[in-house]
Amino acid sequence: MARLRGKALLGVFRLWVKRALFYLNDVAAVIQYALHGFRPRQGLTILCYHRTAQGLPRRVPFNPYNVDLQVFLKQLETIAAMKAITIVSAGQVARWLEGEVPPHGSYLLLTFDDIWQNNLSAARALASRGMPAAFFVPTAHIGKEVFSFSAFDVWCKAQSGADPDWYTPIRAEDLPRLRSLKIEVQPHSHAHRSLGSMSSAEMEDDIRQSVAIVRQAVGEDPVAFAYPYGSTMLGDVPLAAATELKRQGIVFAVATDAGCNRLADLRRDAYRLRRIPVNPYDVGLFIRAKAAGFCGPLSLAKSMFHRLPGMKAVPHANGKGSPDMSPTRQRG
Ligand SMILES: [Zn+2]
Repeated sequence: MARLRGKALLGVFRLWVKRALFYLNDVAAVIQYALHGFRPRQGLTILCYHRTAQGLPRRVPFNPYNVDLQVFLKQLETIAAMKAITIVSAGQVARWLEGEVPPHGSYLLLTFDDIWQNNLSAARALASRGMPAAFFVPTAHIGKEVFSFSAFDVWCKAQSGADPDWYTPIRAEDLPRLRSLKIEVQPHSHAHRSLGSMSSAEMEDDIRQSVAIVRQAVGEDPVAFAYPYGSTMLGDVPLAAATELKRQGIVFAVATDAGCNRLADLRRDAYRLRRIPVNPYDVGLFIRAKAAGFCGPLSLAKSMFHRLPGMKAVPHANGKGSPDMSPTRQRG
């Protein structure tokens, strides 16, 4: 019993250390932005959102990666006011990669991973402002009661008084609704397992299924793909995946490695584009710095950490523990 309590306390301690690290990193991103004269970086910045639910319990055992809808609305206002940035769709990025050379500039693509019922309100807010966004859906989980791969969601569903809007995955009938709001629905794999943990045959089958289900749900060919967990350093982005993604007509894929993508590198990095995660406290200068392509020094520190002797890449062990507890992993 005492051992169990000790383990739980250690888990909470690690979570708080991780949160503090991310916060300090985001402060550093604001400093980078200030040093750059509050001008956006040239290139393609891709922001990564997850849940946008309201009223989640504040003290929770796992980081729910939630940006409260009210905070999200403020972020949209801030981003819309950044006139030096052009918001682009996934379709536009695909057209660049298929031949149309992008002119110099600062571009921003908004992406959401996993997709819950609560993201419908975010979709309506985006549509009312004429802002495009790509929603990445793990297709085996459409219409399920809960995302079984998410320790937080499973915990959340078990709480008395939990609002189903906090944790219910998107339903099949909502996918065309998203499309009618000009949201681009794209695959986030089928099973939401790390592709690095699968055999080649499993991986190809998983990608094929997810592309086919999205195509059927929204009646058009997907062009983008988001890797589950998405860390190239931890082995979630196997090189062989790009071959199958290309075969399925996918033009680019996004990882969870943090950073801004230089336009000159877009073709080279098309199947491992970097993103910047958005946190619940990112308002004002914090969200401006991220939309401008600044993400702090943590990504560089992580890549150095994983190059240390003995730091072998281990793909996320699906269903075992919580990815939130890894000292360096972002969720994708
Ligand atoms: Zn995901």
